[in-house]
Amino acid sequence: MSAPIRFYSTNRQVPDVGLAEALLKGQADDKGLYLPRTYPQLSMRELALWRDLRYADIAKEILGRFCEGVFDEDTISCLCDDAYDYNIPLEKVAGRRYLMRLDRGPTASFKDFAARMMARWMGVLMEKEDGQLVILTATSGDTGSAVAHAYHGLNRVHVVVLFPIDEVSNRQRKQMTTIGDNVVSLGVDGKFDDCQALVKRAFADPDLSAVRLTSANSINIGRLLPQCVYYAYAYCKLAEAESGESIVICVPSGNFGNMMGAVIAKRMGVPIERIIIATNANDEVPRFLETGQYKKIVPSRVCISNAMNVGHPSNLARLVDVYGGWLDETGVMKEPPDMDALRHDLYATSVSDERTRETIKQVHAEHRVIIEPHGAVGWCGLTDFLKASPEHEDTLCVSVETAHPAKFPEEIQAAIGVDPPLPKSLAGLEERNERYDRFTTDYEPLRDYLLSRFSS
Ligand SMILES: *Cc1c(COP(=O)(O)O)cnc(C)c1O
Repeated sequence: MSAPIRFYSTNRQVPDVGLAEALLKGQADDKGLYLPRTYPQLSMRELALWRDLRYADIAKEILGRFCEGVFDEDTISCLCDDAYDYNIPLEKVAGRRYLMRLDRGPTASFKDFAARMMARWMGVLMEKEDGQLVILTATSGDTGSAVAHAYHGLNRVHVVVLFPIDEVSNRQRKQMTTIGDNVVSLGVDGKFDDCQALVKRAFADPDLSAVRLTSANSINIGRLLPQCVYYAYAYCKLAEAESGESIVICVPSGNFGNMMGAVIAKRMGVPIERIIIATNANDEVPRFLETGQYKKIVPSRVCISNAMNVGHPSNLARLVDVYGGWLDETGVMKEPPDMDALRHDLYATSVSDERTRETIKQVHAEHRVIIEPHGAVGWCGLTDFLKASPEHEDTLCVSVETAHPAKFPEEIQAAIGVDPPLPKSLAGLEERNERYDRFTTDYEPLRDYLLSRFSS
């Protein structure tokens, strides 16, 4: 047993908290983001021993260390077995280059990994406290369905998802509105920004103090910790840990939560030689690495890898903090990070829609592997890196596929003339009954709705 991990805020104006409080608060009171004060260390010997473990068992080992003193071993064990009951394919594409598919969960995006664990953690905390919690979240698509599915069936946690009626695809809407029970979906006649503004007002509204509201977006540390596990998993499965081999990880990024999972894995001792960040045309972070100047992009640029259309990633504050700087919640760089160390550990590149489509075509033509636009941004980024660093030609590299190709049938069809087969999780969606209430962009009806349903 080691001491429980404490979590500090990147704005450093509030005291450290334990995991339970960090999870239930989401954002710290000083508007900073929580990060672990210390990182549990994984030894090379352990990594070598875990080669034959199942994903859920590696998750128990790693997450158990972050949960010390909060959830006991049996609880973590049950939660991991329950949350991670699907495959994580590691496909060899060419040479030492692999694709890790994180798209086999119930909503076919990598967000399932973290949402499912965070939901279970919160469920256990509410049972312990005999309390009730309402997760209020605005979504432009993937987050809403991953969160809604992850929390479905919990007794003490309710989920309210606000989505812009005209901005989500049919399939995305149905992934949220056909769930029911403790999950309600509210369709808003407005844009994603309107949904987010409604959520923000609700969080700040003293009239709602009788309702215990929490958010489930990637500012919550619960959305990050589970994301370090799959990088350790890829290493255990593919690398020669005995000889101390290192690995290059490539992450297609928008809000940079997924990439922070790789940073955490590296801090824990997984020998990650380089983390490659691949963005779409929203290139504020590649530019920052190049120039040392951070400038957000407003409004964000519209690209086919739409889950990465982010012009000011909230998790950048965490990355800057880990490298010794301070980026506040408004996007002002109060103290610069150690740029040399950042450039040493990270490589960033931006990929246009044109190169994204070209990559989908090329990977299919050359290797018979189907990838979707987000994964293609990643693969193209890895290719950029290998061109710039030919000495890594034979280094073990893993790029992640963040969504299932069947979620983007039009792009895939146009690029390679193939209709990607629908995974079981998405099949049958058409026939299920939809249920959602409609709201305008006015705040008062939302407040009354939350009060009437959830005030204690
Ligand atoms: C959310 C999402 C991303 C971006 O992940 P971040 O953690 O925000 O960088 C990439 N691809 C898909 C399919 C997503 O849903």
